[in-house]
Amino acid sequence: MLVNWEGIRAFFHSVKRPRTLLPHAKFPSFTDVPVSISQHLSNAYGRPVDIRGIVLDKDDCITIPNKQNIPNENLKKLRELQNKFGKSNILLVSNSIGSKKQDPTGKDAAYFEDRWEIPVLRHSKLKPLCEQEVWEYFQEFTQVQNPSQLLFIGDRLLTDSTMANRMGAWSLWLCVGVQGSSSWMNKLEGHIYRTFQPMGPILPRTYEKDN
Ligand SMILES: [Mg+2]
Repeated sequence: MLVNWEGIRAFFHSVKRPRTLLPHAKFPSFTDVPVSISQHLSNAYGRPVDIRGIVLDKDDCITIPNKQNIPNENLKKLRELQNKFGKSNILLVSNSIGSKKQDPTGKDAAYFEDRWEIPVLRHSKLKPLCEQEVWEYFQEFTQVQNPSQLLFIGDRLLTDSTMANRMGAWSLWLCVGVQGSSSWMNKLEGHIYRTFQPMGPILPRTYEKDN
């Protein structure tokens, strides 16, 4: 089992600033994510939102943890999002594939990319600390100009949502995920969400875009 010590350290940092854990939207599973997500967030927060890129988690978000198969219903949603945003603008960022610790040769990431036609980030730091590597991808390969144009979709407040907030991006939490797991981690995150949600999430800074 992968022990994410970096993530645990980041968690204790977040304890001092619990709003950094909070997502901006919550849906049960990936199939529930609206393709018109900018409009959804704009309506929810009463401000313009211009999502141009998505950072997508893998385990318990679009696949069963540590499996390579994407169920048909999740693949359909992925294709809808790719049609809307463009294939290069949706980046898969996972600690189980593409990370130096868990997939040092990048073999699993390459297989996933070829099979499912989605770019997979190769990263040396684990989530939630690889924001620089994520940002370098979007700067090099996309038209995303500011982190406030990014949306993170994931099932973990302690990694996916925390990293979104560290970057100044938007965060969408899949609170049930693929398996509907009732693990201690799911229970802990549910408790964290209920406890701190009344404080409200940190909103990304408004960005004056060039075009
Ligand atoms: Mg996950």
